[in-house]
Amino acid sequence: MRENLSPSDITDLVGLYAQADFQQTRQAIQAAELAQPLWAAAGPQRRAEALDRIGTELLARREELGRLLAREEGKVLPEAIAEVSRAGHIFKFFAGEALRMSGEHLESVRPGIEVDILRQPVGVVGIITPWNFPIAIPAWKIAPALAYGNSVVFKPADLVPGSAWALAEIISRAGLPPGTFNLVMGRGSVVGQALAESESVRAISFTGSTSTGRHLMQVAGARLARLQLEMGGKNPLVVLDDADLDQAVECAVQGAYFSTGQRCTASSRFIVEKGVYQRFIEAVEVRLDELRVGHALHDDTHIGPVAEEGQLRQNLDYVDIGRAEGARLAYGGQPLSRQTEGYYMSPALFVDADADMRIAREEIFGPVACVIPADNYEHALDIANGSPFGLSAGICTRSLKHATHFKRHAQSGMVMVNTPTAGVDYHVPFGGTKASSYGAREQGHKAMEFFTTVKTAYTHA
Ligand code: ADP
Repeated sequence: MRENLSPSDITDLVGLYAQADFQQTRQAIQAAELAQPLWAAAGPQRRAEALDRIGTELLARREELGRLLAREEGKVLPEAIAEVSRAGHIFKFFAGEALRMSGEHLESVRPGIEVDILRQPVGVVGIITPWNFPIAIPAWKIAPALAYGNSVVFKPADLVPGSAWALAEIISRAGLPPGTFNLVMGRGSVVGQALAESESVRAISFTGSTSTGRHLMQVAGARLARLQLEMGGKNPLVVLDDADLDQAVECAVQGAYFSTGQRCTASSRFIVEKGVYQRFIEAVEVRLDELRVGHALHDDTHIGPVAEEGQLRQNLDYVDIGRAEGARLAYGGQPLSRQTEGYYMSPALFVDADADMRIAREEIFGPVACVIPADNYEHALDIANGSPFGLSAGICTRSLKHATHFKRHAQSGMVMVNTPTAGVDYHVPFGGTKASSYGAREQGHKAMEFFTTVKTAYTHA
């Protein structure tokens, strides 16, 4: 059993949740293996109806489930409710996609022969998710997996079993053949490892740290499983002299600090051209002063607590590292005490940072950002691209020329012009380049690439 405590108030016990062992995970994989052909044979109409039902219930219960999510993860209530809505919309989107699992038909180059390019389910899919989007990330992996006829073994992050259980309970009443969907809560090194090792798990979709992603590559990749890995980011927001300053500040503060900076698409490097550098910093400080850090369920809170103690410690360690490296801490970066005991800290802004500093290179995954000065657009682009990561990159500018150039040349899977690096739509592809992502894109119609295999059939009539 694992205690699920609220990061806003560590005396608030959300619940006690089971922890599966290796053997139980194997049983779930076996159940998924037996059920998968039945689910594939159920056909698109039944799959669409099941997914639609799940989406409807998520949307109807968004306030209640949002409250649970905010309580166990620590993001503020409006963000948590929006996340549940998003999960509902994702299931409804993939309900439609179940009906659009299309192949192709071509004439052969040989007379009398026809070629069909078929899309088929992959089989049993293992889904391993992190704690920062406890319902949306599972939804955007589970929904396409089921839509295209796969069965699922879902291993949520240890920190957020409540949201995972609630989602699984809804899925359990949607009319899937028993064994099609399996929730296995427990440790990554036990449950996740079992999924990585099992020959029966044909594909693994994972979101989490780069080190775990690499580990999965070694274990599951070695047995030639299909892999989709979404890992770290160190997302830049470039601000040019000609930017609308208010808009740039909003993009920066929204992108870096909302959701307590715990988004893989969060901006953590503000790369700012010299002419606007000082004004940008002053305006960000003014805006940060308006934000209240507090209990995730309180009405007046803008930024909730850090999700766990270890993460808070790591964030504060990075604040010390930044200072020691010679960046100037212009704002925040302190542990905070509130009425209830939780993992609170003030948003941290470093200025005069150098692109080579650790705070400018390593993913922190908290409300910590740094400002790096740039001489001009080309210099800013160079700094933006000088990272091993490449998930999301943003630019604030009124110049069509620079915006267009940036869209083409930013080394990232997603590019944002005059809009925050974090915050994406659910019906279009999501993913990065370089060390941020591996494998086919997630979400939107492109999700079919990962969750189906292609078969080429020749028929001599
Ligand atoms: P985060 O920093 O988001 O917690 P992790 O990579 O540690 O990133 O965790 C992401 C997910 O991967 C979690 O569900 C976690 O339990 C799981 N995980 C951790 N270690 C392993 C492992 N060795 N094999 C498979 N999954 C793992």
